[in-house]
Amino acid sequence: MARGTVRPARDLCSDCGLCDSRWVAYVRRACAFITQQFETIEARAHGRSRDQDNEDELYFGVFQRMLCAQLASPIEGAQWTGIVSTLGVKALESGLVDAVLCVQQSPDDRFTPVPVLARTPQEVLAARVNKPTLSNNLSVLEQLPGSGIERLLVIGVGCQTQALRAVQDSLGLKQLYVLGMPCVDNVSREGLQTFLDSTSRSPETVVHYEFMQDFRIHFRHSDGSTETVPFFGLDTPRLKEVFAPSCLSCFDYVNASADLVVGYMGAPYQWQWVVVRNDRGQELLDLVESELNTQPVMSSGQRAQAVQQGIDAYDKALRLPRWLAELVGVLVNRVGPKGLEYARFSIDSHFTRNVTWLQRNHPDKVAAHVPAFARKIVSRYRLPKP
Ligand code: FAD
Ligand code: SF4
Ligand code: SF4
Repeated sequence: MARGTVRPARDLCSDCGLCDSRWVAYVRRACAFITQQFETIEARAHGRSRDQDNEDELYFGVFQRMLCAQLASPIEGAQWTGIVSTLGVKALESGLVDAVLCVQQSPDDRFTPVPVLARTPQEVLAARVNKPTLSNNLSVLEQLPGSGIERLLVIGVGCQTQALRAVQDSLGLKQLYVLGMPCVDNVSREGLQTFLDSTSRSPETVVHYEFMQDFRIHFRHSDGSTETVPFFGLDTPRLKEVFAPSCLSCFDYVNASADLVVGYMGAPYQWQWVVVRNDRGQELLDLVESELNTQPVMSSGQRAQAVQQGIDAYDKALRLPRWLAELVGVLVNRVGPKGLEYARFSIDSHFTRNVTWLQRNHPDKVAAHVPAFARKIVSRYRLPKP
């Protein structure tokens, strides 16, 4: 089947890749943008859905443990310290799995994703670092039949995990492990170029970037130099059109149905955030835990006022002059939300924006598509008129 010919979610499709495999047959009930089913897939993965009366579960989903971590010997060229790649390597070396679904890059373009079923540690390491664009990861499920793979580790973001969970019983696997990453504001390859052109001083030399917990975007360039830009100085009027419609209607920021989640948003500056959701997640973490520096999760600051101000400013598409953006950035970094409160700040900001976007662009989908936990979170704020 030619890639991209079938896309029942139409403009909301995140190109998760399911429709490029034989499992397209399940698309109506598997696609995250056609059937919202957080409670079902959380229950399937963890034995229960999240307790919405528990503030931590309301925001971060079902979990057994949360911690902050760094690989004691970071992997050169990884997105952060390389916990995810190390886990993939160890899962293969220990025989826990036969293959790892991960995302390498095109030989022609560092930011064009190439999903693979990696069978060797070298192939997993070649997938290190984010390709910050929509990636059709599940297309490689098509290679499973006849491959001899019985135990699989899938590394991916929330929309990919949701579709995977919906079809996992029909994959013919003996065991499936899911290592998820949080994800928000993803873009097409063209959208990424607009973002880089409008934000970096030298878009053509950017080799790595991350939105960090100090409220700045950190770019690394091919000559080794770094550049940081305050969130508050972004060209909002231009960037409003850049994010993919799938991501403007996504509520799976924290990858609710993964076994283990590795990101950064709930950890202090320069630490990774690890969420163990179930026993399989702990089994994965056991592979690397002795190689990690760890500390408990922390939380400080108050997010609510900043979130409300951000909602209003985003809606008016305000762009602050650079000097003011720098000043606001310094102030917010000094007194603003940190650790888990930073994660809640980011979740509140994105969920309120996404509900508003859906109300304006797909009003018929709001009732079924916005999960109950997101409704509860969003009800704490005053949204712009639809
Ligand atoms: P590495 O060892 O460098 O491994 C990175 C892994 O990412 C690789 O295994 C690769 O297969 C996989 N990957 C790369 N590109 C993609 C892609 N497009 N789709 C699926 N998988 C991919 N964390 C947050 O806390 N908040 C965020 O908002 C956030 N947004 C993210 C958006 C994207 C598109 C991605 C891929 C990740 C995001 N993360 C986010 C996770 C974070 O940036 C790091 O990837 C994570 O902390 C792991 O770092 P690492 O050094 O251990 O990973
Ligand atoms: Fe198909 Fe995935 Fe797109 Fe949904 S998001 S239409 S399942 S490729
Ligand atoms: Fe998928 Fe959501 Fe990430 Fe977009 S923001 S790529 S829809 S997980």
